[in-house]
Amino acid sequence: MDKYRLRDNFDKIVQRVENARIKRSEHHIVQIVAVSKYVGSEEIRALYELGQRAFGENRVQDLRAKASELEDLPIEWHFIGRLQKNKINHLIDLDPWLMQSLDSLDLALEIDKRLDAKGKKMSCLLQINSSKEPTKAGVEPERAYDEYLKIIEETKHIDLCGVMTIGAHSEDENLIRQSFETTYKIYEALKPHGATICSMGMSHDFELAIECGSNMVRIGSLLFKD
Ligand SMILES: *Cc1c(COP(=O)(O)O)cnc(C)c1O
Repeated sequence: MDKYRLRDNFDKIVQRVENARIKRSEHHIVQIVAVSKYVGSEEIRALYELGQRAFGENRVQDLRAKASELEDLPIEWHFIGRLQKNKINHLIDLDPWLMQSLDSLDLALEIDKRLDAKGKKMSCLLQINSSKEPTKAGVEPERAYDEYLKIIEETKHIDLCGVMTIGAHSEDENLIRQSFETTYKIYEALKPHGATICSMGMSHDFELAIECGSNMVRIGSLLFKD
């Protein structure tokens, strides 16, 4: 991808995030995670040079390859994909900055066991299936609060920092808004239990997500495509 194009895409996104966050509140801070699953390490390096530090990948093997090619850079890697149990050890070995796609107590217990054996910790977000789409991962909104507390209670090495959701897959803005509002409500209820991150919003809906309270957006195609 052309460097000037990347810079242009990045500048526009930063400006749009800035406008959206100020609309919510002057004090509202939003972190951008650049979802690099569409590109190779060259593009990641180019965006790093423009000042971006947080990158997201959705496959353990891609994360491993790119992290290794870019090990000279202090990148904050986010894992945002479905984690198969046979990949847990690989992910732990990569020391991700934040695992955003923890989607059950069961998976949490499994990760915790492996963390214990390795003497490591991992920061995670609980993924919520706020639109209740059967193809999407995540805990149902009605169960999310209890599941979150159970994970805190029953794990020793997982640092639960908040929630993540993918907005409803729809043309109907009201449906998307609903899924963000549902997630934000759960996030607010979890704040007294240490939740500080509400990760929601992607290329096509990040402004709406920020309007609904998101403080972390995950943007891929708008950055790296077209
Ligand atoms: C791919 C992906 C994104 C980025 O989506 P874009 O629409 O390309 O911005 C964000 N979050 C998750 C979980 C993803 O898998």
